[in-house]
Amino acid sequence: MEGIPKSVDEISLTKLSLTKLSLTLQDLKSKVNTFIMNKWQESWDEQLNNKLYSIHPDLHVKWSKGMRKNRREEIVLARCRIGHTYLTHSYLLKSEPIPECIPCGEILSIKHVLIDCVDFAPSRARYYTADSLKELFDNVDPAKILGFIKDIGLFRRF
Ligand SMILES: [Zn+2]
Repeated sequence: MEGIPKSVDEISLTKLSLTKLSLTLQDLKSKVNTFIMNKWQESWDEQLNNKLYSIHPDLHVKWSKGMRKNRREEIVLARCRIGHTYLTHSYLLKSEPIPECIPCGEILSIKHVLIDCVDFAPSRARYYTADSLKELFDNVDPAKILGFIKDIGLFRRF
């Protein structure tokens, strides 16, 4: 097999070169993890049309949890971030037409509900203002996002 030392001299030489580099297992793990993360980031940076890229472009930044004590609230926040909720995507399972926003008739999406819908604007303004999902998830207190969703009566449908 290639790459595996075959003789005592080769093993000694390998140990010697590792000693000379003074590379610990922890150092090696760290280097490998950094290499993998950078490769992943390079691949992610090519996904410009991916809706998740727009809210989380830098993989080195950890996605903060909502830190909710209520598990259901944590689930709703996670679903909002990935843009998939029962309300907006159950039509795929039911073979129904794509849902429309009842107040305004636009195609129902998380971005529409949380950012764009003019009919929800007065309710939304009582909790937060944001021009994009990235701005919303980066800057707005999760309690305010959840408050808005509860206020418009969609919390149980996310
Ligand atoms: Zn609407």
